[in-house]
Amino acid sequence: MKTPFDVLPRPVVPIAGRDEAFPVHRIYCVGRNYADHAREMGSDPTREPPCFFCKPADAIVLSGGAAAYPPRTSNLHHEIEFVVAIGRGGREVPVSEALSHVYGYAVGNDLTRRDLQAQAKASGQPWDVSKGFDDSAVVSPIQPATVVGHPSKGRIWLSVNGSLRQQADIADMTWNVPEIIAELSTLFTLRAGDLIYTGTPAGVGALRPGDRIDGGVDGVATMVHSIAHPFA
Ligand code: MN
Repeated sequence: MKTPFDVLPRPVVPIAGRDEAFPVHRIYCVGRNYADHAREMGSDPTREPPCFFCKPADAIVLSGGAAAYPPRTSNLHHEIEFVVAIGRGGREVPVSEALSHVYGYAVGNDLTRRDLQAQAKASGQPWDVSKGFDDSAVVSPIQPATVVGHPSKGRIWLSVNGSLRQQADIADMTWNVPEIIAELSTLFTLRAGDLIYTGTPAGVGALRPGDRIDGGVDGVATMVHSIAHPFA
């Protein structure tokens, strides 16, 4: 059917080393997936399990680019995360088969309006405005599992203007990648093109316009981006 409106193309993420791209379908995120970060946010990791939330697909910012400093916050935070790229869809995927649904891996920054998230938590409101804003999902090129395998350990880190802010190991995730895929696929039908941000370790903190953010998962991927001035 014809439409008089502009139809935006589906966001795509480059596939490392190939002249191909990964078309983003949905962005799922895991909250509270490292015990040390759960504690720094005031949660008890033995009592509150990981949770899921979503970002819109067009919140993607590619490595090398700039994320705009969002409006209505004075406390924009970085959250470095190991990212899973789903290559084959499914529902109720067993843990034992979960990795066969993975196309590859990346590293990303789950940008967060921490002040609005704190207000939402205090009043029992949803996280959309604190997590799902424009330019809130920075991501590196995707490394195919045929190249990097299915990493279950490795240093994850983030620096701001050259100073290290977050450093941990993806082996310390509360739910590992197969468990996340199995659980998520009981809630949603997974599709090729889905990205899953698997949670951040401790050390989250504030960003300012003009900051340079570097991050990576050793042996998998690195990303770099800046924070652009608002309304620039
Ligand atoms: Mn996060």
